Parts: sequence; C-alpha cells; structure tokens
Amino acid sequence: MKALVLEAPGDPPRLALRTLPHPSLGPHDVLVKVSACGVCYHDILVMRGTLRRGVKPQVVLGHEIAGTVEEVGQLVFSLAPGDKVVSILTEPCGWCLRCTTGREHRCIRGLGIGHGGDGGFAEYVKLHELALVRLPPEVDTVEASLLACPLGVALHALRDAGGLKAGETALITGAGGGVGTHAVQVARALGARVLAETTSPHKEGALRSLGADQVLVTPDLAFGDLALAFTEEVGCDVVLNLIGTEAFGECWKALAQFGRLVLVGELGGGSVSLAPAEVIFRDARIIGVSGVSRAQVADSVRLVQGGRIRPVIAQRLPLSVEGALEAYRLLTQERPLGRVVLVP
Ligand SMILES: [Zn+2]
Ligand SMILES: [Zn+2]
Repeated sequence: MKALVLEAPGDPPRLALRTLPHPSLGPHDVLVKVSACGVCYHDILVMRGTLRRGVKPQVVLGHEIAGTVEEVGQLVFSLAPGDKVVSILTEPCGWCLRCTTGREHRCIRGLGIGHGGDGGFAEYVKLHELALVRLPPEVDTVEASLLACPLGVALHALRDAGGLKAGETALITGAGGGVGTHAVQVARALGARVLAETTSPHKEGALRSLGADQVLVTPDLAFGDLALAFTEEVGCDVVLNLIGTEAFGECWKALAQFGRLVLVGELGGGSVSLAPAEVIFRDARIIGVSGVSRAQVADSVRLVQGGRIRPVIAQRLPLSVEGALEAYRLLTQERPLGRVVLVP
C-alpha cells in the first residue's frame, strides 16, 4: 500500500510516498481503506518540527480519517467489511478509567493517530476498533473525514466544555479555518448568536452564509473592543480561542461576566499573564479542550445528517508528496476557508 512518510521535519518538510506492506491485524484491529484524510494544523506543526514529543520516527501523519472497513481482526464484532467509518484522534485501550467513562479520547495508554502511531495519509490504515465510529451507509466518506476533527472538536468545545446555550453569544476566533468554519455552524445550531472573527476580509461572505450574525475582520487581531461594541459592552458568553497566545488578551477582553473561555488551538506557543483576581471577579472559566469522544462524533454525524451542518472542504488534493506540500503551503500561507483533505 502507498503511504506518505515524514522522512525529516523542516520548513518545508521532507516527505516520501513509499510502498509499505499491508499492516497485520491484531484481534481488535480494523483495516480501513482511506477515502480521505483531513490536513490538520497539528500535522503542519509535526511536519515543521515544532511538535516533536511522542512522534513516531518516519511517521505517517493524519488523524482525520474516513473510509471503508476492508478487514477486521478475529475479535472485532462492532464492525464488518464494507462499513463506512470515521476515526477519533487517538487509539484507546478500552480498559482504563477514562476509556470506561466515555473519555476514551484521552485514554491513559492512548496512542495519537498520525503522531505516536501511523495515520491516514495512506491508502490503508490499521486502527483499534474503539478508535472508529460507524457511519450511516449514505454518508459521503470524503466529507466524513471532517466529522471528528474538526467538527466533533468544535462540538466538544462549544457545547460540552463551553456549555453554550440557545440565546447566548459566542465569539469564534480564527473562524475561517478548519475548526472555525465548523464552530460557527455548531454555535448557530445550538441557537447562539454568533460573532465570527477572521483576519481575511474575503472570508466575510462565506462566514455569514455558514451562520455568523456578525463578522469581525481584524487583521491585527484587535477584536476585543469590537466584540464588546457588538454586545452593548456585555461581552460574549463563550469565547473560542482557536489562535492561541497571540489572541488570548483580546479573547479575555471580549468575555462576559460568567463567561467561558475555551482554548483549543495554539499556533505560536509562549505564555500569557493573567491576574487571578480578574478571573474571580468575572466569575469566569478558562477551559482547555483537546480531542473528541466517540459519543461526540456520533452527535456530529447526526448534526450533518439532519442538514444542520455541512463539512467545509477547502480543497481536495491527491495523496502524493506534491499534494501534501501544497497542503502545507496552503495552511501556512494562504489559510483557505475550511479544511484541505488528501484523497488517495
Ligand atoms: Zn485535526
Ligand atoms: Zn484507555
């Protein structure tokens, strides 16, 4: 089978399309024929060498995988050949406390797909059955690659971590990106008023059509005062920071009393300074979110099936060195609307 191997991280990274033997299956493993794999900013950080900890040498990247079951291990009864599936971001053990309490995406022994183990930038990928969620037969498996990360992550962040309710106001920063375009739709589907922040003026129309009530175009990331102006100085009940440290201060400025600041993305690293008294007197919560559980992915599937959300694919590129390098260029320079996917 063909697989795209990260030979050496760098800017640009050194990648090679190799022919690897078909993986052999353990009793709980499933072989998935990949229909598409989304290119996440996580993949870019590993490609560039910014993120090195726990990365398998010569890794096959990609954790946003959807496809069709080709073959199952001896003890797999949850899936059968021909089933359409989407993966979560981690291979869970199935036995630890987190796995048995619905938090398998943070399994104590979990292996990051396309990070600690090989992922979906390949024709086939071997995954534990508990890393997969079965899809309805009518689902498009290219679009379905976005149902865990980024859509499920957005649902996790806004509904479950942020507790966003109908009638509240949500501010989505970095709204034009992979997670952002889906977060805008999730916030809308939850019945919230949606402020969408973007640095790209040309994304305004698209963000409105995805459900943004107001689009804040702020190339300098100075969106805090604008968000206050749009909310009669009240601020936003949930602020989703998809940018990281660089946007933290403005996110904090935009947060309402009793507000929830949810941190998902970190593009730059570094640290922030914040007086604990400010958190206390604002009755605020600051919550980190990573990954998505199988139950949250199942909810994402229902939202898409019900027509309330549509996966936003920016571009489909071939699974090749050229395709992956073009994805790298798009994500680091052009920042297209939605997600770029690689199609074998
Ligand atoms: Zn991702
Ligand atoms: Zn576990």
